[in-house]
Amino acid sequence: MEHHFKVLHKDTETAARAGVLTTNRGLVHTPVFMPVATQGTVKAVTERDLVEIGTECMLSNTYHLYLRPGLPTFEKFGGLNNFMKHEGPILTDSGGFQVYSLSRLRKITDSGVHFASHIDGSPHFFTPEKVIDYQASIGSSIWTCLDVCVKNPASRADALDALKKTKKWAERAKVHFDEKTRHMDPAKRPQLFGIIQGSIYTDLRAEAAKHMAELGVDGFAVGGLSVGESKAQMMESLAAVMENLPKNKPVYFMGLGTPEDIWNSVELGVDMFDCVLPTRNARNGQALTSTGKLYIKNAPFKNDESPLDAECDCICCRNYSKAYLSHLFKAGEILASQLISIHNLRFLINQTKAMRLAAAAGTFKQAKKAFMDAYLPK
Ligand SMILES: [Zn+2]
Repeated sequence: MEHHFKVLHKDTETAARAGVLTTNRGLVHTPVFMPVATQGTVKAVTERDLVEIGTECMLSNTYHLYLRPGLPTFEKFGGLNNFMKHEGPILTDSGGFQVYSLSRLRKITDSGVHFASHIDGSPHFFTPEKVIDYQASIGSSIWTCLDVCVKNPASRADALDALKKTKKWAERAKVHFDEKTRHMDPAKRPQLFGIIQGSIYTDLRAEAAKHMAELGVDGFAVGGLSVGESKAQMMESLAAVMENLPKNKPVYFMGLGTPEDIWNSVELGVDMFDCVLPTRNARNGQALTSTGKLYIKNAPFKNDESPLDAECDCICCRNYSKAYLSHLFKAGEILASQLISIHNLRFLINQTKAMRLAAAAGTFKQAKKAFMDAYLPK
């Protein structure tokens, strides 16, 4: 899709930018944090709450939805949006990462990947073309190409082999995507993001980025980072990618979700983020706040009347005390998971909004420093 992404403002000192992505289900203002609905639900958060916290785009997963409930369900219901009663755009991960991290008996060939389901051991075979078809059945707004992910640290030979396959598969996915969507009304057409691999080898990352830029996909997903490498290696690899991508298309860093990592990546020009940690940690009683992480079960909160974060405007912070949340958590009440999940998601959505405003005002560096000074442990 041409002109589907507009950079509205650029920061003066850094590569941070404020943009807007037009999808077939509405606008997404970037930088954006996308809550993760792996199984067609953001864990412990209702659709009404997702709307209230300002969710503009959500993430789901081809591998999980294909295995359960299975694609015939989406065909019957007219797609995941109708099935889960969600209005806004959904980005689906191709499943490459889950095949590598969850499934058993994986065998990758040039044509695709054989694997056994992590649920019942049944055998399956994903190809780049099939994964495009699956995302058509799911009916998501942003599709991704099937990729080969390697665990870091990976040898150069393994990283190179994974990259070669990922490039070939992206080419095949693009051809199939174009055939499938060519005759669609442009306003209804989904978008295709290519996944950039290359492990921690900056020359491979640069090569992967250039290849994906030439392929003419609608956006770029940076995969295979934040999977075991050091922070320094992660940022060097990301920088190598960003230097070799065109500036007129959105860039999505897959699975990155700590506030400090998001600030650092937006500084390099990344636009989109998702992560399961804000909701997973919430279920373990950990809240993100503007003055750092907070563990709600800790003793000092027993009689604390203040909200989780005095600067937050979410339903949890507007209504409830740390003492109440601490009590709920210790009593094993599911409302604790619900409220802290809502808060953590709203916190990250508010952070990306602050980044957007700072990029527009040309004050990104100062805003990032102010955040880090208050957030990171002294
Ligand atoms: Zn809150």
